[in-house]
Amino acid sequence: MPELPEVEVVKRSLINKALNLIVKAVNINDGRLRYKIEKNQVKKIIGLKIENIKRRSKYLLFFFNKNIIMLVHLGMTGKFFFINERNKKFKTSFYYNLNKKKDDKHDRIIFNLSGNQKLIYNDIRKFGFIKFFKKSEIKQNTHFKNLGPEPLSNQFNFNYFKKYILNRKRTIKDILMDQKFVSGLGNIYVNEILFFSGIRPTKKVHKISDREIKMIIKLSRKILLKAIRFGGSSIKDFSTTSGKKGLFQQHFSVYGKKGEKCSKKNCSNNIIKIVLANRASFYCAKCQK
Ligand SMILES: [Zn+2]
Repeated sequence: MPELPEVEVVKRSLINKALNLIVKAVNINDGRLRYKIEKNQVKKIIGLKIENIKRRSKYLLFFFNKNIIMLVHLGMTGKFFFINERNKKFKTSFYYNLNKKKDDKHDRIIFNLSGNQKLIYNDIRKFGFIKFFKKSEIKQNTHFKNLGPEPLSNQFNFNYFKKYILNRKRTIKDILMDQKFVSGLGNIYVNEILFFSGIRPTKKVHKISDREIKMIIKLSRKILLKAIRFGGSSIKDFSTTSGKKGLFQQHFSVYGKKGEKCSKKNCSNNIIKIVLANRASFYCAKCQK
């Protein structure tokens, strides 16, 4: 499932490719996404210009002129392809391969853009969705109104954190996964953040120290930014500083590492996997207390 860093990379790729282009036509090959898309909905953006693309939590927001916003959630397997005027296909993220021919049949929505270019929304499992809003409606819509602060924003700070967990008895994993508390952190990155913070996922929040709160905030930023940087560097035409390539998954330190040796120095324990609230949690019993 795409998490915040991937959605951020998709956003930046799309800004590089599709900004200021005008929607000429929209073809719906299969509108049966999480919410069905009808022809009369997509009509709203024909003739409009993509003026900006933003991310909020794991949502992408396309801002058109005339105060129209297209909201996209990638669900489990949603992805965007961009096709330039010479029919060259580009991917917008690092989680998938470009040259799988059979993927084409999952092209659900095709946006024909000015300059003979195309933006394709492809989704194998169809849990993603596309919705349209007026700019004035966006903050109050059901997807946004209960979202907590972004983990990379200044609102996700010590005072906010401390106040929120006061008198609560949930586990730290549960609260970090709660989108009302902080929006955009998913299972993979919560596992990673807790590993580097030395905190066991099952620890109750009333036992979390001030030092640990600061650590979680700091490491959330560091780990997400690193993932964005890495993700960006692995796709073409994406300006980043580092040049590493490869599967991002290889860079996880604890997620999916059940039975493997803990990567911390001077630790010979193996990573344990437990299931918490139906989600896999990975930790080192020696390094995480
Ligand atoms: Zn360890």
